[in-house]
Amino acid sequence: MIEYKFALSEYPNDLQTICRNELKLDDDFLFIAGPCCIESEQQIEEIAKYVKKTNANVLRGGAFKPRTSPYSFQGLGKEGLEWLSIISKEFNIPVITEILDVRDIEIVAKHVDILQVGARNMQNFPLLKELGKLSKPILLKRGLSATIEEWLGSAEYIFCGGNRNVILCERGIRTFSDYTRNTLDLSVVPIIKNLCKIPIIVDPSHGTGVSNIIENMCLSAIMAGCDGIMIEVHNNPQIALSDKDQALTFEQLSSLDRSVSDLLVYKRRRKENFENRNYRGN
Ligand code: PEP
Ligand code: MN
Repeated sequence: MIEYKFALSEYPNDLQTICRNELKLDDDFLFIAGPCCIESEQQIEEIAKYVKKTNANVLRGGAFKPRTSPYSFQGLGKEGLEWLSIISKEFNIPVITEILDVRDIEIVAKHVDILQVGARNMQNFPLLKELGKLSKPILLKRGLSATIEEWLGSAEYIFCGGNRNVILCERGIRTFSDYTRNTLDLSVVPIIKNLCKIPIIVDPSHGTGVSNIIENMCLSAIMAGCDGIMIEVHNNPQIALSDKDQALTFEQLSSLDRSVSDLLVYKRRRKENFENRNYRGN
């Protein structure tokens, strides 16, 4: 086991503390929804308007995109960040975007509430060290083939710089699966919960790459005990500039929203009943 001074201790802030202190949200479940990438002002506005009708409490949108091909759409960059922060104020919703390059930390941190470290950068140690100097929450995605030890080692880099606000995000790992883009490893949720206090959310959009199984995988993730979910949604998935096969339509988002709400109510009731039973001693 590698050395941990913070990741396995009481040091990391829990999700409720992060939500209250950093996002000004009185919530105990993170529901992040939005497009893979910001494509235009009108696109992000239309999506934000719909997202606001649901129980999603954070809007996502990529401005700097890590694409496999250098010829694919790379994101709108700073212009995208500006749209995202305007929309955040207009709709009064916190926003998250990916930070790709250590040179962009200042501008990204100025425009968003949560900075996302993508799977491809999970072990970009210079980037993690710099993010440790911020107090804004960092969503640390699991690397494409990272072990739990490696993932927690990366979280440790952020903690040891002084930033207590790390949220882990399971987004699927590489296996021989041929019907999904990745294999969503839901077993890490209870494992992380047993190991440490760091909040963990699940992203079935990248974890599966298949839009019509995302709702079921979100519900499974919630039953596995996650602190939140992140999904991609688009006003017109067929013409999305990235990740179109995994983008939910607005209708699919509504259906997911209803199922997630019902399941969260069920889980809270079950917890209350359990606590009452224990209290009465039977
Ligand atoms: C994303 O969230 O758009 C993304 C690129 O995710 P990942 O780093 O998990 O591939
Ligand atoms: Mn994506």
